[in-house]
Amino acid sequence: MNVLVINCGSSSLKYQLLNMQDESVLAIGLAERIGIEGSQLKHETLGKQKIVLQKPMPNHKEAIKIVLEVLTDKELGVIASLDEIQAVGHRVVHGGEKFASSVLITEEVIEAMEECIELAPLHNPPNIIGIRACQELMPNVPMVGVFDTAFHQTMPEYSYIYPLPYELYKELGIRKYGFHGTSHKYVSQRLGEITGQDIKKMKIVSCHLGNGASLAAIQNGQSMDTSMGLTPLEGLAMGTRSGNLDPAIITFLMEKKNLSIDEVNNLMNKESGVLGISGVSSDFRDIEDAVKQGNKRAQLALDKYYFIVRKYIGSYAAAMGGLDAVIFTAGLGENSPDARATICEGLEFLGIEIDPVKNNVRGKETLISKEGTKVQVYLIPTNEELMIARDTEIIVKDLTKA
Ligand code: ADP
Repeated sequence: MNVLVINCGSSSLKYQLLNMQDESVLAIGLAERIGIEGSQLKHETLGKQKIVLQKPMPNHKEAIKIVLEVLTDKELGVIASLDEIQAVGHRVVHGGEKFASSVLITEEVIEAMEECIELAPLHNPPNIIGIRACQELMPNVPMVGVFDTAFHQTMPEYSYIYPLPYELYKELGIRKYGFHGTSHKYVSQRLGEITGQDIKKMKIVSCHLGNGASLAAIQNGQSMDTSMGLTPLEGLAMGTRSGNLDPAIITFLMEKKNLSIDEVNNLMNKESGVLGISGVSSDFRDIEDAVKQGNKRAQLALDKYYFIVRKYIGSYAAAMGGLDAVIFTAGLGENSPDARATICEGLEFLGIEIDPVKNNVRGKETLISKEGTKVQVYLIPTNEELMIARDTEIIVKDLTKA
């Protein structure tokens, strides 16, 4: 079965076409600047070439149309016709409490996604637009929705409830939902596949450290706590997000700096985190370079970031009553030996000890802890697209059986 995976942002669209027989990627690409001037498509076919197509893409439907044309193009294409796409898997950011797993997309499912818009006003609308556009262009192809929040729906009530008046949870749905669920699920399952261990019997902390970052405590193969919350702003300091703060800072700032709701939201989401502390960049590569040149604020940003991640690992070990494995994934987690080593410093008391030689690796599945230590520490590159394609295949296969 060939599965097309679509990840639609407000002005971009990432896609992959996978052959699920051997899980190979046939083509991968990114449409950028949709709806604005200068739109372009970067497309790469397995074993063939990379191309950049400059074409007007006034909306997502036009962008998807161009993607489908390229996929079936006589020269550049990897399939002869659209009949060779048997299913489409869509990444959807917020499924609220309605979706604890991936689902076949129906009109009712789209309505439920629309009800979650107020929880993810920037993300769910483009996700839904992408689904509608694909439905119009491929009306007979089954579509599956895969939610970033779904994996975390197993969190116990005491984990997801906020200490606010309970009525606010009932009235407005204010609770912890968590994100990056597809990634946390993928890397924890992959740990089981690589090592042959039954992850249902393990206590795992998964560290997704990218531009956005979150940790998950995974017990019995299920998420029991995660650092992001109602929105992706909670938890770790990130590239530009503040993560956890004293909530009183928000009203204090609004008063002292005369900030509006939008301005304070912007400050917390776009101007804070390691960018805010360092004043250098939101990209950890730039921060690491600045540190090498002796930039003290860049060092402070890294120290703060690592300190927070280290504290979360310790608190999740306490939350689960033990720890068997730590997984590092996403941009920083996969590519920075320094980040992994520094985060784990001082965690020897938990049984975490990094082997500096094994840790000197990027982007490759590797056991990086010292031999014989209590906690296995792994680098496992994430693959959200593959996870989406796997869920899509399972659901669509079930459909044809029924
Ligand atoms: P996104 O959240 O956008 O999907 P990624 O998982 O791709 O992010 O992570 C991007 C981040 O990873 C970059 O902002 C950068 O800080 C970090 N990163 C990527 N490569 C490296 C590297 N070689 N060394 C240090 N940090 C890196």
